Amino acid sequence: MKMQVKLILAVSAIFLLAAVMAAVTKKPAAACGEDDFRKFLSAYEAKVVPLSKDVALAGFQASISGKDEDFKRSADLQIQLNTITADPAEFARLKAFKAGGQVREPLLKRQLDIIYDSYLENQIPIAQMEAMVKLQAQIEQKFNTFRAQVDGKTLTDNGIEQILRASADSRQLEAAWKGSKEIGRLVAPDILQLVRLRNAAARQLGFADFRDMQLRLGEQDPLAIESLFDELDALTRDGFAVLKKNIDAFLAARCSIPVEQLMPWHYQNRYFQEAPVIYPVDLDVYYKDKDVVQIAGGYFKGMGLPLDDVIARSDLFEKPGKYQHAFSSDIDRSGDARVLCSVKPDSYWMNTLLHEFGHSAYSKFNDPRLPWTLRDAAHAFTTEAIANLFGRFASSPAWMRDMSLLSAAEAQRIAAPSRDALRLQQMVFSRWAQVMFRFEKSMYEDPDQDLNRRWWELVEKYQLLKMPAGRNEPDWAAKIHIALYPCYYHNYLLGELLASQLMYHISGRVLQAADVENQSFAGRPEVGRFLVDSVFKPGMRWPWNEMIERATGEKLTAKYYARQFVGEK
Ligand SMILES: [Zn+2]
Repeated sequence: MKMQVKLILAVSAIFLLAAVMAAVTKKPAAACGEDDFRKFLSAYEAKVVPLSKDVALAGFQASISGKDEDFKRSADLQIQLNTITADPAEFARLKAFKAGGQVREPLLKRQLDIIYDSYLENQIPIAQMEAMVKLQAQIEQKFNTFRAQVDGKTLTDNGIEQILRASADSRQLEAAWKGSKEIGRLVAPDILQLVRLRNAAARQLGFADFRDMQLRLGEQDPLAIESLFDELDALTRDGFAVLKKNIDAFLAARCSIPVEQLMPWHYQNRYFQEAPVIYPVDLDVYYKDKDVVQIAGGYFKGMGLPLDDVIARSDLFEKPGKYQHAFSSDIDRSGDARVLCSVKPDSYWMNTLLHEFGHSAYSKFNDPRLPWTLRDAAHAFTTEAIANLFGRFASSPAWMRDMSLLSAAEAQRIAAPSRDALRLQQMVFSRWAQVMFRFEKSMYEDPDQDLNRRWWELVEKYQLLKMPAGRNEPDWAAKIHIALYPCYYHNYLLGELLASQLMYHISGRVLQAADVENQSFAGRPEVGRFLVDSVFKPGMRWPWNEMIERATGEKLTAKYYARQFVGEK
């Protein structure tokens, strides 16, 4: 997954002060025709384009080395970049360009809108910005240093997850789960203060609340996103209830308790965001001793999306001190994309590599004729969709067969349990994403309500879990995204919806194949051609939903996701 760290949270107050001082000495307002905006653009690009490349390179380097001095250099460059969009005098000019209405040429107007929004969210008084940055850092540190105390032992998050997955002892599971929630109590007051500050800042900028601002700045109409979530809720509710019964029967037997006694700690994960392992498929056996980098590279080449240069510049294997999560970085929006990960020959890393190469292909095969500002993914979730589209193939028997990882007969044999496992994973995640989406909405609308209770109302409604009797703890605050990656979580689910929409469109319309489940896209250059022309090259030329409609004939819809994972016709 790729996390977008919002500028609003990273800006340094000192550099903002410098920007304000510069503004005081600025000349009176200039003219605001298209030629004036072109001049503004050249000056903007002259500053931002080379600096953005330096930021990306420094970030990539720091993630490889893990050295303090590399991280410091990376942070300093990021601050320099953020300072540019905090400049109130330049923002005033952008405002004048917008109000003047003379910038009409479509690509110019589009750039104006996007650059305006990136400045807008940084036009917050320094004291307020500083208070938010401080709180954010304080919360981050509490999360970094928190270790759960369980039965007299100190455990990391991985240690907790390991117990939840492996143990069948209800008492031990309860202790581990409850121990992991203690962080909630430590950070909840800070988060509430931060939520109020974020709301105040957003209201000053003319938005209803912080969430309203976050969504609108990403060109997401909050009501339209909510109706997609409603649609998906309706489509998954009954299917999930059936699957949940299967899960419950399996877990109750596993822990030797009656189904009625199942509690949130029995579901093999702190949040029930991942599917418990209830189907017997072990995909790792097909990947051991395999060169997953070569497989992924060959696969993309077969679709006419060669990534040899990306692979050559990437850092793909474990190293001491190296960042342990995977990501793809678009270094210069001019073809230099790189992946950082620590591959091993198993299905998890096959999935991750296909996922990250999906991001890289989106970056590499952009339209060099588009202005720099528009040469990026239509939205963070659209590049996530491409990444998920390919990542999912790592557990597709049809794909593994076409990549010669198993025989046709073996693919046939594991088809049913593989499909069940993938469906379970998607259904469990989608119900959990409903909780996150609705809780954040509710919290920013009214941070003074009984949030502890609100959280469990949603968990009971969407995930069908039972609140432990009498529990009144800030369990919502234990989920790090609530504090540090605010109002972003819904994009993960939108990425899954679009991945399914593209899967059906490519299989049905581009490849003219009726059997979606049997498609792997292996050796099909028409798939690469479609993606380059209809998704990658458009970049940010159009708002994301217009790109999706032009590419697939429909706006973003939950219907194909439901068809793929719920069996809805
Ligand atoms: Zn991703």
